[in-house]
Amino acid sequence: MEFPFQLNNIICQKKNHNDSEMVGFCIDENCQEKNKFVCLDCLFEIHQKHKLVKIKDLKDIIENRYKNYKKKTVEEKELMEIYKKNEEFQLNKLKKFKNEINKVLEVKIINFMNDLKKIYTNLSKNITNENKYLNIKEFENFFKSNAAPTTSSELTKLSEICTNLYKEGYIKEEILEKKNDKNEKKETDKGESIIPLNIDENENKIELNSPLENFNKKLDELIKEQLELMTKYIEENILVISNNCFSIPYKFEWCSKSYTGDGFLYELTNNNRIGTKILEDRIMTILRAKEEIKNNSIYNIKFKIGLKTEGDFDIGIGTEKEANTCWLRNSESLCISNSGIRSLGIIMDNVTKLKDNDILDIEINTNEKGKYFKAILNNKLICMLDFEFDKAFIMAAMRNTGNYIEVLESKVSDFFI
Ligand SMILES: [Zn+2]
Ligand SMILES: [Zn+2]
Repeated sequence: MEFPFQLNNIICQKKNHNDSEMVGFCIDENCQEKNKFVCLDCLFEIHQKHKLVKIKDLKDIIENRYKNYKKKTVEEKELMEIYKKNEEFQLNKLKKFKNEINKVLEVKIINFMNDLKKIYTNLSKNITNENKYLNIKEFENFFKSNAAPTTSSELTKLSEICTNLYKEGYIKEEILEKKNDKNEKKETDKGESIIPLNIDENENKIELNSPLENFNKKLDELIKEQLELMTKYIEENILVISNNCFSIPYKFEWCSKSYTGDGFLYELTNNNRIGTKILEDRIMTILRAKEEIKNNSIYNIKFKIGLKTEGDFDIGIGTEKEANTCWLRNSESLCISNSGIRSLGIIMDNVTKLKDNDILDIEINTNEKGKYFKAILNNKLICMLDFEFDKAFIMAAMRNTGNYIEVLESKVSDFFI
């Protein structure tokens, strides 16, 4: 890449400096001169004993910086394009996913609607049963074509129709009568019996309720129930993994490094995820994570606290320097403990204390824009502390043997959302 700027051939503007070429540049902190370019005359007159660099060296530095800037600008632009493309690509995937879900639902609902249509078709069929009013229709038609029966054959015909109608009417009446009997009987029963006949009452209720009313009620209930079921399922199961999608599983392990002269005093089990203090009861010692916390990452770790016997118990983050003091209650550490929450050795909260079987979720955010340490104890946020120290480790410190700390879950993400 060409460096398009000229730093040589700059001419000194000072009187009596004879248009001399600038040969140096003053970088002296005590220099009072506003013009830092230096010709040979300037050098002897103004910048004696000043710290100078050659114009060529200044040019090299600026040129290098310029090259980096151009290169980075191109890289950043390319990266922005990749981000944009990928974002679109992923958003489209989600749109397709949404459409797929809609399709499945639509098929289900259309099937349901078709079933409903079938029910109504059958209901309609029952109403338009042709044979049901055959006799009365015939009766109606007879009088449409004849004002009154005038011949004996007409009279015979009308007689037949009337006989059939009488039979139909009689059957209906009989049913009605039987029903009335039943009602009367019920009333007598009621009078005699102390226990009301609930079965009959229920029967009446069903008869009184229009079948459509029931049907509507059932459909409303079904829709309400299905909607609740689906919402609950979706909320609990669908896309709840979205957070995990941006993070990677992180295999957290305790490390068997020792900070005491007495050696390593812990036993590590379950792939180095449980650290149990087994030696030197009553001496506070550090249990350190295998890996240092990386910058620009978010760590989420779930711990189970094993505080079987009373005694100091710290869990948090600290530097190696802090580890040598063998607990997390000094200048380069943060901790949740059995006696409160501490930041840089200062007690922030002396009410919140760790107990046996507590579940502690910690989040460590090392975004360069602002690092923080967040702790959630038994699903309740207990602190969010800013910190500035680098090269930190996740650490625990325990005094008594038999106490332990277990890592239940761990993940790390380098996305900031
Ligand atoms: Zn000069
Ligand atoms: Zn100077």
